[in-house]
Amino acid sequence: MTPNLKTENIIEVLKSVRPPSSKLSLVELQAITRLDVQEKSVLIEVTLPEVNPMVEKSIRFQIEKAISGLDSQIQAAVEFKQAQTKSAATQKIGTMIAVGSGKGGVGKSSISVNLAIAFQQLGYRVGILDCDIYGPSIPTMLNVVDQKPMMLGGKIQPIEAFDLKVMSAGFFVEQGQSIVWRGPMIHKLIQQFFHEVEWGDLDVLIVDLPPGTGDAPLSLAQTMPLTGAVMVSMPQKVSIIDVHKGISMFNQVKVPILGVIENMSHFVCPSCDHSEEIFDRGGVKKFCAELNVTYLGDVPIEMKLREMSDQGRPFMLDHKDSPAGKAISQIARRLQPFIKTAEDATEQIKLIL
Ligand code: ADP
Repeated sequence: MTPNLKTENIIEVLKSVRPPSSKLSLVELQAITRLDVQEKSVLIEVTLPEVNPMVEKSIRFQIEKAISGLDSQIQAAVEFKQAQTKSAATQKIGTMIAVGSGKGGVGKSSISVNLAIAFQQLGYRVGILDCDIYGPSIPTMLNVVDQKPMMLGGKIQPIEAFDLKVMSAGFFVEQGQSIVWRGPMIHKLIQQFFHEVEWGDLDVLIVDLPPGTGDAPLSLAQTMPLTGAVMVSMPQKVSIIDVHKGISMFNQVKVPILGVIENMSHFVCPSCDHSEEIFDRGGVKKFCAELNVTYLGDVPIEMKLREMSDQGRPFMLDHKDSPAGKAISQIARRLQPFIKTAEDATEQIKLIL
């Protein structure tokens, strides 16, 4: 074998080596930073975001197995290096708005995506961070399910879709795979999302939280330097009871509630214009008045919104003048007083880890 061919062979077999729970190989992650091929030995340097003995053990084992499968005579030496990452203090994110809900299925992710576009339409640079670890649907809604974030200069590059910078827990787990997310794992994920993602300068980062008040949303709300939270609820009583719990959770961790949105408030028949108040329209407005929290507005049910969600194109791009589109634009304008641009950000992003 010529040395050149050997290098290629080695890279080829390294394509099967993945850090635990990553769907990307070391080669795709550009984590192999040195490959020194000698006649009977190979030195492989792997650069990882952080020192983690378990991860290193698994990678070392996989590499040795892969190389011995290629040629049992070759000795593989694996060295690990920690990536030099820019600290979070260099990230300039002006505003970070969490979108939460008491329950799943109320339209939290749909609102996150379309609110992100509405902010973009107001001239802001916007990113979306999908932390809904139990059901990350943002990649589907933005048609980027098959995309894989790349490493560049030791930083994870967010995916760009419709001029939004996108990062999702979904990019790091296989579709259909279920992971039990425990507290330390959630912390680590958040750490990666902030310290290792090259967000660049953003005016608004929308954070789609997992629904409810369990460990995951609580941990996220507690750890992230949020400007505030927007809650999404449907109008009926069973949804409002849960959104109340969500608000209490944010109060507990001292994250300001910027307001509540009533989603799927009513349905206007496209052919006869008759409005049907399927879920008891106005429930959220009443609840906000009782609790003295800001009511941000209602978004009606619109079939196009659901259809475009499934097609992977944000509804607001083509339908901002429809009833739901106008409602979402108005909600974005109501939130404008809370927005600081990247340039205006007085305090830089810090994590409380
Ligand atoms: P969640 O993030 O709260 O689980 P989703 O955003 O995934 O909820 O929405 C659940 C379903 O409802 C999706 O199919 C979505 O397209 C649809 N949906 C959400 N809001 C609306 C709306 N205003 N009009 C029509 N369909 C909607």
